[in-house]
Amino acid sequence: MISACPICQSSNPKPVFRLGHMPVLCNQLWPDVETARAAPSGDVDLVGCTTCAFIWNRQFDPERMVYESGYENALHHSPKFRAFASDLTHHLIERHDLAGKHVVEIGCGDGHILDLMVKHGAATATGYDPSMAGRESQFTAREGVRIIPEYFASRKLDGGFDAIICRHVLEHLDEPQTLLTQIRHAIGDRDVVVYFEVPNAGWMLDGVSMWDVIYEHVGYWSAPALTTAFVRAGFEPVNVSTGYSEQFLMIEARPAKIRQRDFVATGTDKIKTLSNQFAASAQEEMIAWRARLGSQAGKTVIWGAGSKGITFANAMGTVHSTLDALIDLNPRKKGLFVPGVGLEVRPPQDLRLLAPDHILIANALYRDEIADQVRAMGLSPSFATLTG
Ligand SMILES: [Zn+2]
Repeated sequence: MISACPICQSSNPKPVFRLGHMPVLCNQLWPDVETARAAPSGDVDLVGCTTCAFIWNRQFDPERMVYESGYENALHHSPKFRAFASDLTHHLIERHDLAGKHVVEIGCGDGHILDLMVKHGAATATGYDPSMAGRESQFTAREGVRIIPEYFASRKLDGGFDAIICRHVLEHLDEPQTLLTQIRHAIGDRDVVVYFEVPNAGWMLDGVSMWDVIYEHVGYWSAPALTTAFVRAGFEPVNVSTGYSEQFLMIEARPAKIRQRDFVATGTDKIKTLSNQFAASAQEEMIAWRARLGSQAGKTVIWGAGSKGITFANAMGTVHSTLDALIDLNPRKKGLFVPGVGLEVRPPQDLRLLAPDHILIANALYRDEIADQVRAMGLSPSFATLTG
C-alpha cells in the first residue's frame, strides 16, 4: 500500500476512483486464449494528494511489474502520432540548440524518437529500454542511433550528454522522485535540458476518460504535480504544456541553482475539484456502456488494442461476450490475445471477414483516419468512440 504522496509525502489522500481486477500488464499480449485469461490481475484504487494534486494507485505493487520482450506500446503505426513525433523532435532540436549534440532517452521503446532526433540534427542518440532485449528495430539503422536493452540507471550516464528525453515512463514509477533526483545529480553543474512527457491526467479527469486508467500506471500527472516534482528535484521548468490534442503533458526543464524541497505549484485546486467529480461521472458512463453493449444486436469490434481498448473490454465484465475482437494496425499484435477477457487482436484487413456491425474506436483522435480506412474497404458499420 502506497499511503503517502510519492511527490510531496503528504498523508491522508482522498479517494478518486476504483477499478477492480484489471490486467497487471495491459500491453502484454498473449499467444492463446487460456494464457490471456489467466494473466495476472490487480486492483486499481486511485487516490489524490490534498497538497500537490498528484493522483496514484495506492494498491500498486512494483514487484509485479516486469517489462520484458512482448510488452508492446509503440504508437508509430498511426500517421497522427508520426506527425506529432516529428514536430516534437524538430522543436526540441531547434529550441534547445541540440544540433550536433548527444541525446539520451530513458525508455526509448523501439527507438522511433532516437531516430528522429538524429534525423533532425542531433549527432548521436542513445536509448535505454529493457523491453528491447533480443528484438530488432527498424529505427537503429541510422548512424548515431543506439539502443541499450537494459533498465536505465543514472550511473550509466557517462557525462557526454546534452539532453535527456523521457516519454511515458514517470507514470510507471512508484518512486518518480528518485529518478528525477538521480538525473539531476548526474547533470551536476552543467546546463542540460530534460524533456519529460506523461499522459495528461488533467485531460483525463476533465473528459472523464476513465479507459486511460490502467494498473501499469501508478501515477496520474497533472501540470501542478509535474511542476512540483521537478522543482523539488532541483529543476527549473522552462515550459509546461499539453500536446497530442491535450492527451499528453510535457515539461522542458533545466537544472536550477537551488533545490526547493518544499515547493508546491499553483493550480492544484482545479485538479482537486475535477478529481472529486471523476468517480461519479465514470460510474455513470460505465453503467451506460454496459447497458448499450448488452442490448446492441450484431457484431461489435474495438479498434485499438492499446490501453484504452483493453481497459474498456475488461471493464465491461460479463457483457464482454458481445465483443468479437480488437483491431489494431500494429503487425506485432496480430493473432495475439488480450489479457483478462482473452479477445483476439486482428489486423484491419480481417474486417472484411469479420464484417462487424459496430466499431468502437478506442481513441477519438483516430476516428477520421479509421472511418476512412473502413469505408475504403466497402464496409459500413456504425462508429462510436469510447469517450468524448
Ligand atoms: Zn503530494
